[in-house]
Amino acid sequence: MNQIELQRLVEETSLTNFSKPFLHKATFNARLKTTGGRYLLKTHDLDFNKRVLEIYGMTDFTKVIIHELCHYHLHLEGRGYRHRDSDFKNLLAATGGSRYVKDLRTPEERQSLHQYRCVKCAAEISRKNKVNVARYVCGKCRGRLIAIEN
Ligand SMILES: [Zn+2]
Ligand SMILES: [Zn+2]
Repeated sequence: MNQIELQRLVEETSLTNFSKPFLHKATFNARLKTTGGRYLLKTHDLDFNKRVLEIYGMTDFTKVIIHELCHYHLHLEGRGYRHRDSDFKNLLAATGGSRYVKDLRTPEERQSLHQYRCVKCAAEISRKNKVNVARYVCGKCRGRLIAIEN
């Protein structure tokens, strides 16, 4: 999907799910890492993370578009557009937008987690950062940990 197709999709989703036009710009932003989308208060534009589409597919990506359009329409109408606002919660429920963003790491990035196993109880532990196995022990049984190769 390119930028033009994204713009068209967001415009169509707005008309279909909100019966209101989307009159600003929708862009794929490669700098978004963990969020699926973002509404820019100043410009009213929407940024999207292409990874949602690549990892989870069209259905989930549409739900992210709906989520961001909830921020968009409520903000422009001067209503409660924040996650905690009841206007937002109600509109999100009515339109079927996603409530939270799933894990957006690629399978490769998930693999790069450091894995450890307890030698005593065999519990497996994964950490983003390397653990000093000489000092760090199993949280369940205080047993010694060994690194597991991926
Ligand atoms: Zn949001
Ligand atoms: Zn253990």
